[in-house]
Amino acid sequence: MSTASDAAADPGDATPEIDLDALRAKYAHERDRRVRPDGTAQYRTAAGEFGYYAKDPYTPRTERAPLTDTVEVLVIGGGFGGLVTGARLRQAGVKSIRMMDEAGDFGGTWYWNRYPGIHCDIESYSYMPLLEEVGHVPEWRYAPGEEIRRHAVAIAETFGLYRDALFHTRATALTWDDEAVAWVVETDRGDRMRARHVITSSGTLTQPKLPGIPGIETFRGHTFHTSRWDYGYTGGGPDGGLVGLADKRVAVVGTGATGVQVIPHVGRDARHLYVFQRTPSSVDVRDNRRTDPEWAAALKPGWQRERMENFLAVVSGEPVDTDLTGDGWTSTARLQRKMISGRVDTRVPAEERELIEELADARKMNEIRARVDEVVRDPATAELLKPWYRYMCKRPCFSDHYLQTFNRPNVTLVDTADHGGITRMTEDAVVVGDTAYPVDCVVFATGFDVGVSGVMSGTLPVRGRGGRDLLASWSRGPRTLHGFYGDGFPNLFHLGPLQNANSVNFAHILLEQAEHIAAVIGRARKEGVAVIEPSAEAVDAWCRTVRATARDNSAFQAECTPGYYNREGAGVRGGGTSYSPGPVAFHRLLREWRDDRMHEVLGTRH
Ligand code: NDP
Repeated sequence: MSTASDAAADPGDATPEIDLDALRAKYAHERDRRVRPDGTAQYRTAAGEFGYYAKDPYTPRTERAPLTDTVEVLVIGGGFGGLVTGARLRQAGVKSIRMMDEAGDFGGTWYWNRYPGIHCDIESYSYMPLLEEVGHVPEWRYAPGEEIRRHAVAIAETFGLYRDALFHTRATALTWDDEAVAWVVETDRGDRMRARHVITSSGTLTQPKLPGIPGIETFRGHTFHTSRWDYGYTGGGPDGGLVGLADKRVAVVGTGATGVQVIPHVGRDARHLYVFQRTPSSVDVRDNRRTDPEWAAALKPGWQRERMENFLAVVSGEPVDTDLTGDGWTSTARLQRKMISGRVDTRVPAEERELIEELADARKMNEIRARVDEVVRDPATAELLKPWYRYMCKRPCFSDHYLQTFNRPNVTLVDTADHGGITRMTEDAVVVGDTAYPVDCVVFATGFDVGVSGVMSGTLPVRGRGGRDLLASWSRGPRTLHGFYGDGFPNLFHLGPLQNANSVNFAHILLEQAEHIAAVIGRARKEGVAVIEPSAEAVDAWCRTVRATARDNSAFQAECTPGYYNREGAGVRGGGTSYSPGPVAFHRLLREWRDDRMHEVLGTRH
């Protein structure tokens, strides 16, 4: 039996012994009873017959004539990735910028997600980009969604990005025109415009998904997805006050990061709330608080960059003198390495390191499970709310209200794990096993399709030089330099997680990417260069670097409870898609490349 004490893993911290064999067996048992043979096929996209789940409830769609004009830069995606790219391009002197989004305004994920309780779960001082440039200090340590959405709008206003912007518009094809040295861009509005440069930043979790519950379409009550919250029905707003639910029996399906934020509000305001849970989230202390005005007044120029970089370094396992954030993310840095590229201490032999990490993980998860017992009064309910998997198998959650909601007399937890989720729906009820729960309203907090937007998904066909199809030329995996661009596809740039490095503060990752792209375009303009394109050799070399540095986390993924992180238990192919020395090393590499080698991608002159 591989029993070890925490003291062995972390000298000086004497806590009770952990039986790792027993824990592994329990985790495997909990995973096995959740794995479904239909894997990712169990879900329905909110399209076609379910298209009304994806309709924009916030902004009316206005008619406009199709466009055939030409811009210098088209940015596809009006979330933080697109916005910070637009901002940096303006600062680089680009006047002709067109932003485009399927939504009715800027904000990306914060445009769509306006459900009650919505908050950022990364500290807002590091998460909300360009705070100093826009002149805003967040009101809360973990900002509410509405403040973040307003900040996105403020970035667009500050940098003049509303000018020429197109909303409720989806790019449907990109075709390179060699003669015009520009992309021909077609959209679902009948546009056929041109852009010298195209930048795609279309997000990773954008399309709402629904569980493929038999009978879902027969339900006659009210129903919607959390990312299209129907305040017309519920009353109230993102701060709560859902007075329309006072006489309603409401079902919330899903207990991921969204469910954890929504459930306290619905529990407070509905006549009765049934929470349909399949896998419990790990829910740690939040400790949100208002920003201290004295602290804010004392901030020195450059404070945000320093804080962001410090957070990134800490969660990536880099050596730092101080942890400026000191929260649930920074204190669990070493538990995040398995899932998100991070620096590994190679001075410790791999086997010993694995054991140390597993013990630290077990200790953290024991703490999370103990908190459930402390907060939830009914022991049977508490038992159901305990997560049995390793910390990063699912997105960790933080809340000081979620577990408490299950002490309310009007809230019932319905565990569906033994049934693989909800069994079926009828005209007026949600059924689990043989038990029907009659409800007036069903709210789906069931997450998003992964990888359905952007060039990798195939929803935006791209034809480069000589009509070369982008996805066909990537049939054996993406081929880029640094994740940004590939040979044969001039003046086309991608933002997002692609052959680069990632972190939990994705807004920071996007900012670095945006700054890199803006620097390259800025230099090309200055030097009168019309075409930006890496050579096939440079792309091959980067693919080799990514492959050589890749760490394979498929074994860890395979042992995790199913979810979108591991393709519902089907696992994720071995490493090879990201730069495993981690984001700090990647950003350093990009800076050095900008200093010494940028000329390599600057091709044909005007
Ligand atoms: P998730 O995919 O994380 O969660 C979906 C939930 O629906 C899970 O609890 C899932 O259970 C449940 N579910 C799915 N099908 C069924 C079924 N048939 N019966 C019962 N339950 C079912 O989506 P979220 O919207 O919660 O979060 C998505 C991501 O968005 C997060 O991982 C995070 O990256 C981001 N996010 C970030 C926030 C922030 O504050 N920064 C806040 C909210 C979201 P199971 O786990 O068993 O599959």
